Order: sequence, then structure tokens, then C-alpha cells
Amino acid sequence: MRATVVCPGCGAALPGMEHPPQPEGNASSECTAAFHEVIGFEFQHPVMLRYHQMSVDAYGAQHGGDAAKPIRLVYSLAGLWLALEQGFSGDEVRAIHQRMGHPAADWPTFEPVTVASWTTVADVLEAGVKRRSETGHAKATRDWAADVWCAWLRERPGTATQIEDLLRLVFVHPGGPGLLGTVGSAGAVHRLLGVLEGPSSARGA
Ligand SMILES: [Zn+2]
Repeated sequence: MRATVVCPGCGAALPGMEHPPQPEGNASSECTAAFHEVIGFEFQHPVMLRYHQMSVDAYGAQHGGDAAKPIRLVYSLAGLWLALEQGFSGDEVRAIHQRMGHPAADWPTFEPVTVASWTTVADVLEAGVKRRSETGHAKATRDWAADVWCAWLRERPGTATQIEDLLRLVFVHPGGPGLLGTVGSAGAVHRLLGVLEGPSSARGA
């Protein structure tokens, strides 16, 4: 039996592989492979694609630091905030990510969070792919994203405010991405502006 490999990012303990893939970001090869399996499952079952963005962001928020690009962590946290705090769909999150652009000097930086015991891609793999269960995958992915986001809020209490401020910095100013562009993308940004500009703005007051 092969030794277990612990992921430096999320801590998932997975059986060592004979031919491991190249690790991506701050992850073990085995964790990278598990993530690829989960993503592959989503693409095989179009109904699962609605969870794709959530998977990408939950995974990204657990694998910051070291070899990971800092932008991935920022985008992941923004994605989790949008999806979990504001109820944005995966398509909407993707549209907003596309409009965020590249990090600027005034963007916040985030110190990665490591938690001894939290939901990881290994749990999602077990509940969905391994059981060929779409409902198992759906529930596990939602639980995963919520667990990761709660860990961030617990370990870095300012995260939600930092993300909200960042999105305000990017979107709420005259030179910002605003509402120009494609309809779908503009719709998501319009909804975001309603959130960022507060309840009175959202009501059109
Ligand atoms: Zn990992």
C-alpha cells in the first residue's frame, strides 16, 4: 500500500500515486489529480456545471501561497463572497471575474488560511465521483464551499469586508468596467453594483 500524501494547501490526505501529475499551485500532485477528477465529473454531467465555479473557488481558496498565483486567491475569495453571501450564480461570478481584470497595487493581499480539519476536494471526490452520484457531488460541493468560506471568516475576520471593498474599488467608479460589454456580463455587474451601492441604490432611490 502506498504512503499517504498530505496536501500542503488543504491538508487532504490522499494515497500516493505512481504517476502523479504536475502539482498546480500550492497543492500536492495527488490533490491536483483529485481536483481534476472532480472537475471532469462536472464536465461529464452538464447539470453539474452550475457547481463548477464554486468548486474552482473553494479549491483556490484552500491553495493560496507558495507556488500559487496571488490573483487566484483573490478571485477565489471574491467568488465565494459573491456566491455564498450574495447568492450570485456560477455564470454571474464568472462574468464578474472576467471584468475584474488584473490585480493593481491597491488590491488587498491575503495570507493563506490553513485549517487542520476542513472539507477538502477529497471529501467531494468521495461523495460524488466515487459514488457516481450527482446529488452527492452537489451537496458536497456546497458544503465544501461553505466550510472553506466559514474558515476564512473565522481565521481572517476582515475577509468579507476586504472583498467588498475591493469590488467597490474595481467597479464603483467612473472609469470602472461599468455596464459596457456583453448583456450577460453587464447583467451580473449591474446586480453587483446594486449590492455595493447599498439598499437605497438597489431600490433605485
Ligand atoms: Zn489540496
